[in-house]
Amino acid sequence: MTDFRYLIVGGGMVADAAARGVRELDADGSIGIVSEDVDRPYARPALSKKLWTDPDFSWDEKVDLHTEETGATFVLGTTVASIDRAAKTVTTTDGQTHGYERLLIATGGKPRGLPGLEPSDRVLDYRSATDYRRLRQLADAGAHVAVVGGGYIGQEITAGVVQNGARVTLVDPDEVVGGRMFPDDLARAFQQRFVDHGVELRLGRRVTSGSEHEGGVVLTLDDGSVVEADAVVAGLGIEPATQLAADAGLTVRDGIVVTSTLLTDDDSIFAAGDVAEYPDRILGTRRVEHVDNAQQQGRQAGRNLADADETYDHTPMFYSDVFDMGYEAVGRVSTSLRTVEDWQEPTVTGVVYYLDEDDLVRGVLLWNVWDKTDDARKVLAEAHALTPDMLPGRITP
Ligand SMILES: Cc1cc2nc3c(=O)[nH]c(=O)nc-3n(C[C@H](O)[C@H](O)[C@H](O)COP(=O)(O)OP(=O)(O)OC[C@H]3O[C@@H](n4cnc5c(N)ncnc54)[C@H](O)[C@@H]3O)c2cc1C
Repeated sequence: MTDFRYLIVGGGMVADAAARGVRELDADGSIGIVSEDVDRPYARPALSKKLWTDPDFSWDEKVDLHTEETGATFVLGTTVASIDRAAKTVTTTDGQTHGYERLLIATGGKPRGLPGLEPSDRVLDYRSATDYRRLRQLADAGAHVAVVGGGYIGQEITAGVVQNGARVTLVDPDEVVGGRMFPDDLARAFQQRFVDHGVELRLGRRVTSGSEHEGGVVLTLDDGSVVEADAVVAGLGIEPATQLAADAGLTVRDGIVVTSTLLTDDDSIFAAGDVAEYPDRILGTRRVEHVDNAQQQGRQAGRNLADADETYDHTPMFYSDVFDMGYEAVGRVSTSLRTVEDWQEPTVTGVVYYLDEDDLVRGVLLWNVWDKTDDARKVLAEAHALTPDMLPGRITP
């Protein structure tokens, strides 16, 4: 059995930020990172962005987070199966036991799968660097790739793969690419980029079943039509990986429930990142699946592991880059909310506000508008004092 002062379960972006957060306050305490991933922590967003679009974006310099600089001990390719809170130990599926004084659960999420298809060399759920390497091989060989799910990761993978010369079919239940996130005119302009780059769109359709055979996959859609491809990427989102916490008797709702100091209901166990449901200072209780949250919350969790006892006060932003378009956003970006649009140039540069049924701003989309996320946070924090007619002109590029 190996004992660590600080033990982190999960080796993703939170693990890196937390190990660095610990080191801000404790230069020597031992840190262990047990991770299912076979790679040390890396910048996950690169898997669907720069690694496809920037030939100079090297793994070693830009993607690997070099968490070894913290002196952490890595146990890679290893799954934690259980936590014994009384003994303060975790046990892995291969029978190792590790003791801890402070534990951080940073297990992120498990991708949702496709009906009838198990992950394989041709069926990729696209969460890890291993998935990237495999898709890269297929794309470089000129494969036909079906991407199922037109959320932001599906959009980015589609753009990345098609810009590398492979053929891509995008299947999504929305009638327009981005229709769940963007107002209609913006979504149509966005979709046009996919058409211009030769992406085949199968919109308004869901996959009802799939099968893999030697050399390819066949997807059947809900209108009875089929898509035959060399490989399929499922971009169907994640379920937070909360089972470990739930089995250990910790409170789990949408995610592992934590306080403003990121503590679970066990005062030796913290949780952070995609897996944690936390009280946001501006937006209330929420769980966030984005990198800014992983980095900031991970750092705070690391500092609190080392006894800082500070509240997490950051309201995270998120961003995406697709073809020549890019945006940053704070809060909820969903067309289930009412929108107020404020364009400098329609569908090119501007701000979209998302309002709930009480006309309170719940989200702000900054379309090709940069370095304004603090202004967006201010709008969200002051939402009670703002009426919709006061929004245009409030954030300017
Ligand atoms: C392809 C892709 C592109 C993205 N692009 C963007 C973007 O453009 N903008 C943005 O804001 N966000 C983006 N994200 C989301 C962002 O990467 C995540 O929010 C962030 O990585 C979350 O960090 P985390 O540490 O909570 O989880 P992860 O980084 O997912 O790490 C979780 C870790 O836990 C491990 N694990 C899980 N269960 C166990 C267990 N039982 N035992 C041991 N280890 C376990 C996993 O193997 C993994 O190492 C993207 C994500 C992906 C997959």
